[in-house]
Amino acid sequence: MIDILVFLAGITMGSFFHLVGERLPMKRSILLPRSHCGACKQTLSLYEMIPLVSYVVLKGSCKHCGTRLSLLYPMVELLLGSLFLLIYRVTGLSFEGLFLAILCSLFVIAVVSDLLYMRVPNELFFFYFPLFVIYRTLEPLFIWWEGVSSLLFSFLLFYSIDRFKPNSIGGADIKLFAVLAFCFGFKAFLIILFLSSVTGMVYAKVFSFRLDEPFPFVPAIAFSFLLYLFGPFILTLFTKLIG
Ligand SMILES: [Zn+2]
Repeated sequence: MIDILVFLAGITMGSFFHLVGERLPMKRSILLPRSHCGACKQTLSLYEMIPLVSYVVLKGSCKHCGTRLSLLYPMVELLLGSLFLLIYRVTGLSFEGLFLAILCSLFVIAVVSDLLYMRVPNELFFFYFPLFVIYRTLEPLFIWWEGVSSLLFSFLLFYSIDRFKPNSIGGADIKLFAVLAFCFGFKAFLIILFLSSVTGMVYAKVFSFRLDEPFPFVPAIAFSFLLYLFGPFILTLFTKLIG
């Protein structure tokens, strides 16, 4: 029962964070106007705003003008629903679970905004970073200076890369790595950095992005972070299933 509630909370929040990722970079209000079709501007009725269900009922296009709805909506909703469920299964109802859910919401907004506009607004970090600092101070994973020194190390590393090869890494990417270094420490930072370089190359190849031109890299960081966080759990689940 709790599983279902957690999943429903996840898809609903997914729908909301998609909206934030879509509107915040454009400096549009998050609350008003209500959700509407991007093409014909028709305001959505209540049932058209039900996450996932509406996409299936409307068969992926606007009821009024027939424009195809972006597949990003249901994907983000399904993703956050599954992530909330996964977090709940791994941490139970705990503060660490709440922290991970909040961190995932930052990633969802950053991924949507990076995919749509290739930029992630700074306000997002001003809002989230203090929360993470407070949480890690109350619930430390390691001695306090490890988080701070990992963060400084990540900045120094990217600063040197930028001096050597300017604009090779985006500002949002650097800030997300700083958040991860601060919250999870030095080893986690190196693992996620390595994983995202590999994922980034594979994903640039798949979507035929050119490596010498800017392309949205936040999805690669998000994927690598999730792999780092849940990889061992999923692997255990998988071995139990086939064993
Ligand atoms: Zn429409």
